[in-house]
Amino acid sequence: MEMPVSFDYAPAPESRAVVSIKPKYGHFIAGKFVAGSKHFPTINPATEEVLSQIALAGKAEVDAAVKAARKAYTTTWSKMSGKERGKYLFRIARIMQERAREFAVLETLDNGKPIRESRDVDVPLAAAHFFYHAGWADKLEFAGLGTSTKPHGVAGQIIPWNFPLLMLAWKVAPALAAGNTVVLKPAESTSLTALLFAEVCQQAELPAGVVNIVTGDGSTGALIVNHPGIDKIAFTGSTEVGKIIARAVASTHKSVTLELGGKAANIIFEDAAIDEAVEGIVNGIFFNQGHVCCAGSRLILQESVADEVLEKLKARMAKIRVGDPMDKNTDVGAINSKEQLTKIIELSASGEAEGAQRWSAPCDLPNKGFWFAPTIFTGVTQAHRIAREEIFGPVLSVLTFRTPQEAIDKANNTPFGLSAGVWSEKGSRILWATQQLRAGVIWANTFNKFDPTSPFGGYKESGWGREGGRHGLSAYLKGVGHE
Ligand code: NDP
Repeated sequence: MEMPVSFDYAPAPESRAVVSIKPKYGHFIAGKFVAGSKHFPTINPATEEVLSQIALAGKAEVDAAVKAARKAYTTTWSKMSGKERGKYLFRIARIMQERAREFAVLETLDNGKPIRESRDVDVPLAAAHFFYHAGWADKLEFAGLGTSTKPHGVAGQIIPWNFPLLMLAWKVAPALAAGNTVVLKPAESTSLTALLFAEVCQQAELPAGVVNIVTGDGSTGALIVNHPGIDKIAFTGSTEVGKIIARAVASTHKSVTLELGGKAANIIFEDAAIDEAVEGIVNGIFFNQGHVCCAGSRLILQESVADEVLEKLKARMAKIRVGDPMDKNTDVGAINSKEQLTKIIELSASGEAEGAQRWSAPCDLPNKGFWFAPTIFTGVTQAHRIAREEIFGPVLSVLTFRTPQEAIDKANNTPFGLSAGVWSEKGSRILWATQQLRAGVIWANTFNKFDPTSPFGGYKESGWGREGGRHGLSAYLKGVGHE
């Protein structure tokens, strides 16, 4: 008898044995874990399993963390040479590499992103940020930022849930390299890798109080923002909260950087290499479930190639593997929270109600957890909500153009200006387009490429200041950053 041939992938689950999750966590203050008073659960969004109980910091805990950071700043960190600070950063980077698998598994369990991404993108890039900034610690006077630069003092840092460990690295590494101490708050749905990072600080024998981590919700974030003992605020998250923070620090001595939302245009000219562009479109919007501030969420297609691109894009999307984030073959994992899923569903419904055509990749979604199939909308106009608002999910809005100028006008018709992509075989067209686009980061014939040496940040409602590279370093030094 002839056996039917199956080309299905066999399951390839990563083991979770490498991590040990405690039933309950406290805060990391002055080099020690201290018990919290109130707690809330953190769940695995792929299964809805409660992973642990996370402490909710109130005024007393935030005060203690700021006090510890101030003490460490005045007694130790500001007195230490850059060369010595650099050694700690190198040590942290190496320990993160040694414990990379543990970080990747924990990130995937708590966040829902595929293990392939946490293992190959988030964790290596987080370590790379510490390596890169370790190199700057003893060379600050050669960074072109002045010869007698000074740190701000205590930095308050508030990060989101889409790249929990990576956003921590983007914030902590330059702060420490420049000589600041830190009070950091992770997002309430993704605190576990920050708490594992606290263990790394202990393992690296980082002086007590240089890094303090308080967990909690928006109220904890607000306590940090409004604390008089904080000298600099660094925030990544929604434009809405970014505006609240900007107002709160406006009349204070605090320096601030804000990394906010985006609605990036990914422009495909008719002379682009179409197969490569299709890969770039998929990477641009479906990487990390589309929970990416710089995601290429508006596809701007030249009309002459629109049918061809859309046909190839749908064929490619039908092959995206959605499901168990712990499976090494998975491309798209779970939506990070029920709230985020509700927002994606609501905005997608508005797309249909306003007249756009919806197409979702055929896939079997798990029964438990929070899921959304990779989706595109065609027939989108610039007035539609799905063309204007950040969906922050695996949903692509497709618009078309006839002339290059029309592409630029559509791309720039947004309150945001974080990133953009341009696809063309012509160098002159790429240079022309990138000069017209009002976006902080522009990729040509690629998308979503990140490197610690490269500054990242936006125009307009996408934020203030830059992170990464020399520009990002300047934000942690007095007088040279965005004050
Ligand atoms: P938020 O901006 O609310 O969260 C970002 C961080 O700020 C979290 O740590 C949050 O705490 C904290 N926070 C919330 N309120 C305050 C406050 N008043 N003062 C200080 N800190 C505060 O984003 P959400 O998680 O609510 O996501 C909402 C939308 O924001 C998403 O749908 C997406 O569109 C966008 N977003 C954009 C991101 C980006 O990288 N540009 C990242 C995340 C979200 P906690 O989460 O613990 O409540």
